[in-house]
Amino acid sequence: MVDPHVAIIPADFHHASDIDAVSDEAYDPQFEALISQMLVRLGEDPEREGLRHTPLRVAKALDFLTSGYRIDLETVINNAIFEDCCEEMVVVKDIEFYSMCEHHMLPFFGKATVGYIPNGHIIGLSKVARLVNLFARRLQVQERLTNQVADTMMEILAPHGVGVILEANHLCMMMRGVSKQNSSTVTSAMRGSFLSDHRVRSEFLELTRPR
Ligand code: ZN
Repeated sequence: MVDPHVAIIPADFHHASDIDAVSDEAYDPQFEALISQMLVRLGEDPEREGLRHTPLRVAKALDFLTSGYRIDLETVINNAIFEDCCEEMVVVKDIEFYSMCEHHMLPFFGKATVGYIPNGHIIGLSKVARLVNLFARRLQVQERLTNQVADTMMEILAPHGVGVILEANHLCMMMRGVSKQNSSTVTSAMRGSFLSDHRVRSEFLELTRPR
């Protein structure tokens, strides 16, 4: 049985943990100056007490939220691909992810489900969650994120097939008065036997149904 709640351990965990650390040492003065200017543009006073360290915090937060650009696939997988003759469907459900839409740079977040049918190789289950995060921590559109996860699974495992389903809420819709507070967006990407064999696809969709 697949553990439906695979822990998500960010590849750059140490960086994440110091995201709110404030010190006098320079982090990225140029980037912080841009954020300062943005605060002025928004009608704020970057010198006031509450905002004094905001440019630093925002710089660190944005770096973390886009860290997927700077982490390579090899590091994420970290040799966790194993030979195995299992050819049963593997499904990792409810992988939490947080991304940012590339149109508004506002978060979208939700859950990913990734399934595949091995063909000689399996991958450590926690790596599937890391793979989702590798692509989520960039400026994205949900459709591309879904496809990137599916294509990368195909590339690194050469399985019989892959299915990826993402369900997410987009703050750019929720916060801008589009009045779609409760609507979520579902995207899917099917590859190999998940695309060509309707029995495989049905089994996958059955396993991914909320229960
Ligand atoms: Zn958007």
